[in-house]
Amino acid sequence: MSSAETNDSAEQRREALKQVFAQAQGCVRCPELAVTRKSVVFGAGNADADLMFVGEAPGASEDEQGLPFVGRAGKLLDTLLEEIGLARKDVFIANTLKCRPPGNRDPLPVEIENCRDYLYRQVELIQPRVICSLGNFSTKLLRDDPTGITRLHGKPEELTLGSRTVRLYPIFHPAAALYTPRMLETLREDFSRLPALLALPEPLQPHVGAAEEIPHAVGGETVPVPGMPDSAGTSGTGSEPLDEVDQLGLF
Ligand code: URA
Repeated sequence: MSSAETNDSAEQRREALKQVFAQAQGCVRCPELAVTRKSVVFGAGNADADLMFVGEAPGASEDEQGLPFVGRAGKLLDTLLEEIGLARKDVFIANTLKCRPPGNRDPLPVEIENCRDYLYRQVELIQPRVICSLGNFSTKLLRDDPTGITRLHGKPEELTLGSRTVRLYPIFHPAAALYTPRMLETLREDFSRLPALLALPEPLQPHVGAAEEIPHAVGGETVPVPGMPDSAGTSGTGSEPLDEVDQLGLF
């Protein structure tokens, strides 16, 4: 039975998250990644966060340190968070792939598929209200749709992922904004709407028992968020932090 169905406490969910972390450490679902990686970058942050970020895949620095977004894109993410009054300890940061693709190549479809269960378990156990997908890979995966980030960025929508309904908020990947001032401006504007999105009441959750067990329960049903721009381009009407950064890469 999923944690949403049993209403597990934050402590129980956190313990379950640690078990998923341990499981991921030995993952060999992608044979190439399993032999080339230095670490499995599970994700880091608050295990009971209202806001979760999902990037693409670890790069060289992340692979070295075992933590997500610790390179240049990560520094920009820190700055953008700070500008809206948040810090890493307030959010959870994960990736579509938990292992670095060699030479920073794009994740392969089979790798995304292999890694999907880990991300969905993270969503189920952390129970964020808002998931910010960073760039194309996580946006396409979570929406189960090939529409690109250029069309979707800044437009929140309700999305049911297995047992959880969340507000998905696609934005540009910070790495894409590093060298493009206009994109950085857009990313900042999109970031500035996050506090309002987080202040909305929690989305109505699926009927208990109606959701499939994660892993393979992709929602697919998307609903615009009232008062925010929707993905058609029209305007629609954790508290308990984990331990200090430890071997689990969690706060
Ligand atoms: N880019 C990502 O998508 N994820 C990271 O962890 C670092 C850079």
